[in-house]
Amino acid sequence: RPTHTSPALDTQSLWQKDKDHFIHPFTDFSTFHEEGCDLITDSEGIYVQDSRGNRFIDGIAGLWCVNVGHGRAEIGQAMADQATRMAYFSTFNNLSNAPASELAAKLAELAPAHLNHVFYSCGGSTANDATIRLVHYYFNRLGKPDKKRILSRNNAYHGTTYLAASLTGIESNNWDFDTLDHLVTHLSEANCYRRPEGMSEVEYCDHLVKEFEDAIAEIGADNIAAFIAEPIMGAGGVLVAPEGYLKRMQAVCRANDILLIADEVVTAFGRLGHFFASEAVFDTQPDIINCAKGLSSGYAPLGATLISDELYEVLGTPQRKGGVLSTGFTYSGHPVSCAAALKNIEILERESICENVREVGPYLEERLKTLSHHATVGDVRGSHFMMCLENVADKATKDLLPVEARVGDRVAAEAQRRGLIIRPVGHLNIVSPPLIWTRDTVDQVIAILDEALAATTASLKEDGYL
Ligand code: PLP
Repeated sequence: RPTHTSPALDTQSLWQKDKDHFIHPFTDFSTFHEEGCDLITDSEGIYVQDSRGNRFIDGIAGLWCVNVGHGRAEIGQAMADQATRMAYFSTFNNLSNAPASELAAKLAELAPAHLNHVFYSCGGSTANDATIRLVHYYFNRLGKPDKKRILSRNNAYHGTTYLAASLTGIESNNWDFDTLDHLVTHLSEANCYRRPEGMSEVEYCDHLVKEFEDAIAEIGADNIAAFIAEPIMGAGGVLVAPEGYLKRMQAVCRANDILLIADEVVTAFGRLGHFFASEAVFDTQPDIINCAKGLSSGYAPLGATLISDELYEVLGTPQRKGGVLSTGFTYSGHPVSCAAALKNIEILERESICENVREVGPYLEERLKTLSHHATVGDVRGSHFMMCLENVADKATKDLLPVEARVGDRVAAEAQRRGLIIRPVGHLNIVSPPLIWTRDTVDQVIAILDEALAATTASLKEDGYL
């Protein structure tokens, strides 16, 4: 439990200021203008606390990111030390700083063997955005300027800069926003739960690979730069692809001179039990891996694009006399963020947190599956510390409840009332906890979810939805 409390906050005034002036990302304005926001004021370990003093088990690691857990004083100290010694200086024009250099070498050590070069950004969206610019630049340099199109997937989430939002395939995320459609083509997501009726998982995998090959035939490999994929799709519903899918997609990429970009913003830094999942879990060797979130466990904003030796050979030579690699951010390689990441990685290693995920993860999966008996739980899926419940109206038909039933919100609210925060995404509920959950934590969480799901079924019945 939190052992410290924040200095007294004028919560009424903060609530008002927030409501009047803070445009929150992904705000639901249908309730915001009346209700405003809950303030989260304190945190420690697996817990967060709101301004009213309610304490919750954090079931979403902040936003899939606080991998080492909350309140790590030594990360705070490392950041403070760096901020007081040298908080910021440029990394443009052949200048660098100690934490950025150290971290680049550490990432090269942790990543698959051929990924030895790091381009820093400010988070996941900017990592993906920068990556696409670099990939286009790479093919321009190779004299293949037509290789521009990026193949992504429906329900993918790659962020919300213009380009990252265009890669994103969750339809509702782009309602009334524009996207760069000339640059991106979306393939089907790999959704085993909702795969075509009568298709085995093996046949489904064949079907998805064939769709990829057909898209290449139609667009032309000469016009395609890369295929980008989350090894397990996160915000789009924690979709675990059929066995061997990613490896087969990689083979198609290789055969067609298409780069494979793994968006490991969620899956890296332990969530699936390894620092990077691409090779360790899925036996693939992407040309580029992007990471953010767990890289610094959310203690400071940071993203990184890990680039292969082969690509670096091209990117690392001037495009013309007097030319420089003219892309990057003021905060690329920010010393305080990199110091946070270094300490975070030290903790992950020292406390064998990946091992904890490999041990407790299967237990979390097994225990969550015991909730399948609830009327609304159509599917429990995911892997290790990346899990999801899909709520349905009818398990046999897999029909969904009407949107206005807000089933994901109901389950999340019932869980929160009982001391657990999980994330509602439409009709889904996501569980993506700090990686320090133990078996005991899992038991507590399952007891809460069991009650929350029962209460949800009762309220849906009362309101005539079931
Ligand atoms: N890629 C993936 C797979 C993500 O899940 C996210 C965020 O959730 C992003 C990219 C975007 O990261 P950020 O919000 O740090 O820009």
